[in-house]
Amino acid sequence: MIPIVGQRIAISVLVAALSLSQPSLAQYVTEWDSEPSIDRISKHVYRWGGGSNFPINALFIPTDEGIVLIDGPISPCDGASSNWIKEELERRYDVPVRYVVLSHDHMSHICGTAAFTDTAVTIGHKKLRPHLIREGRVSAIPSISFEESLDIDVGGVKIVLYYFGPTHSDNLIVTHIPQDGVLFAPDLARPTNQLPLPDFRDLDVDNTIEVLGILSRLENVDIVVPGHFSPTTTQDYFLDFRAYLQALRERVLDHMVAERSLDEILSLVTMKDFDHYENLDQMLERNVITMYDYLYRYRESNYPSTMPVRAVE
Ligand SMILES: [Zn+2]
Repeated sequence: MIPIVGQRIAISVLVAALSLSQPSLAQYVTEWDSEPSIDRISKHVYRWGGGSNFPINALFIPTDEGIVLIDGPISPCDGASSNWIKEELERRYDVPVRYVVLSHDHMSHICGTAAFTDTAVTIGHKKLRPHLIREGRVSAIPSISFEESLDIDVGGVKIVLYYFGPTHSDNLIVTHIPQDGVLFAPDLARPTNQLPLPDFRDLDVDNTIEVLGILSRLENVDIVVPGHFSPTTTQDYFLDFRAYLQALRERVLDHMVAERSLDEILSLVTMKDFDHYENLDQMLERNVITMYDYLYRYRESNYPSTMPVRAVE
């Protein structure tokens, strides 16, 4: 385990001169089938994933000095799935997978990555490893960790990993390939007009509102790759989802201050002004319930209160 506690540390110093005249992104794929597939999305970056049950997006970046893999699975999570991408990479390239980057500890994004530890070292946020071990995740285990950000310079491609504090889990990172204008933001983005999270069980709502603003302003981002489904989206997604999250927070909180019950709040908070989200009906009930749970821990009601007490006073 090599903990890296600093701002930015280059793993390799091989930094290539960046081309000032990049080809247009329009020539690359930004939409794909739900079946297992590999799609080139920019000059250096490939998206891979798919699966019949719950399509997942992961990335790989082939270079002359090795391949960088970001996240792992295709669904279902079994040996056949990880062997599929391993065989594809061996067939296409003469270099091994050198780094495996794990976006966060959730099994659906990382299962099967241990298949690459014969040639690769694994990288993740410093809070990732305890989750992997405690939960018994079927995953590679990081030997390199970092706190705030980490640059990987390999074969002329610079890959920047950012951690902005707890959001969806306490260990989620985003991956930025600035020279290609690609940002991989699993579970903080989905394709436009889809809410990203069924519920907020491990979401730090307040910091996520901050981080969505940061992501919307990150420079050198042309396309945002979501963690699930197709197609890609843009940084506007972060602003739209932030508006939803802020509005939901304020509405649920106002009703809690007015001492309304969770059942009442569920009937009153409809979020109809956000019905451009095609999966709103599917997500709303659990979004309200878990926002209520989050805000229960945020505030103290006046005395006497009709609010239910969840802990012994
Ligand atoms: Zn997740």
